[in-house]
Amino acid sequence: MKRHTLLQSAIQSLFRRAATQRYPAERTPTPERLRGTLHWKPEGCTGCCLCSKECPANAIEIITIDKAAKKFVARYHADRCIYCGQCVVNCRFGCLTMSPEEWENAALHKQVFTVYYGDAPDVERVLEGFVAPEPASNS
Ligand code: SF4
Ligand code: SF4
Repeated sequence: MKRHTLLQSAIQSLFRRAATQRYPAERTPTPERLRGTLHWKPEGCTGCCLCSKECPANAIEIITIDKAAKKFVARYHADRCIYCGQCVVNCRFGCLTMSPEEWENAALHKQVFTVYYGDAPDVERVLEGFVAPEPASNS
């Protein structure tokens, strides 16, 4: 390209609409089916662990606090998750959802990628090192 043509193009581009988006000031709406951050709600959870067993990234754990009382805590490792949505499909009780709005997951510290879901006192117990008792054997 000749020098004057180059200069011409540079000047013209000053008056053209920007081809790029001014993110994060401007945002396009995310698609409804975008698989963003995983959320878990305890209502309806049976502790079947179909979600965690099938997770290809070992990114979700269901910690049993009290099986009879259906008390569980979910530990989600967002930094391992590959956002495949398999756990959401596997859960027959609608406990898992992926938010299309939450996808900007960069952080400075990796601790924020380990997320606990559940009732606050149960999460507190897990953080303090709670270990679920082994189920009683029938033998
Ligand atoms: S698959 Fe659903 S019901 Fe089963 S442990 Fe996971 S969240 Fe709970
Ligand atoms: S979305 Fe996929 S990788 Fe992430 S927790 Fe669920 S099954 Fe695991």
